[in-house]
Amino acid sequence: MNYEKLIETAIAEGAKKAVVIPAAQIVTSERFRDDCASNVCGNYGRCWMCPPDTGDIKELIKTVRSFPRGMLYQTIFELEDSFDIEGMGESATLHAKISRKIETALKPMLPKGYLHLINGGCRFCETCAKQEDKPCVSPENALASLESYGIDVYNTTKDTDLKYINGQNTVTFFSMILLPEEDDV
Ligand code: SF4
Repeated sequence: MNYEKLIETAIAEGAKKAVVIPAAQIVTSERFRDDCASNVCGNYGRCWMCPPDTGDIKELIKTVRSFPRGMLYQTIFELEDSFDIEGMGESATLHAKISRKIETALKPMLPKGYLHLINGGCRFCETCAKQEDKPCVSPENALASLESYGIDVYNTTKDTDLKYINGQNTVTFFSMILLPEEDDV
């Protein structure tokens, strides 16, 4: 797999920066399930791609641990000020759109069995069908949250070129594409 090409393509499609890191650098913790259950973001139990519907966190961390490496990428957006909640929501939706563009562009280069996860959950539909107790309307576009898989993004970025915080009045979002060995597929 040409990792440089993956990174270049992610940046061409809207990521600010991207790196490919080995599994040992991906930090996970079961404590994220408690964080999700506290429902600070309001998505707990309200999106098919967020907990508890994504499944048991121990099993999901095992899944993450089955990949030898991942491509971590970030987007950065300007906010009016640190109270710009509307801007944060719009930026999160834009990040999700960019993530899908990146996946579309990368798909021909990716091995089968990759797993694409994004900050904060799916955001493909304005309102997730889960809230009307209906099945997911677009499973091919549904992206689960990094947090639901127990990925500690803050600690994962520490030894990379990707900064977790990128200046006053900005918001930064992350996604990761977990990459299987090509021989595994
Ligand atoms: S695609 Fe729509 S219905 Fe399916 S998980 Fe995402 S937001 Fe929910």
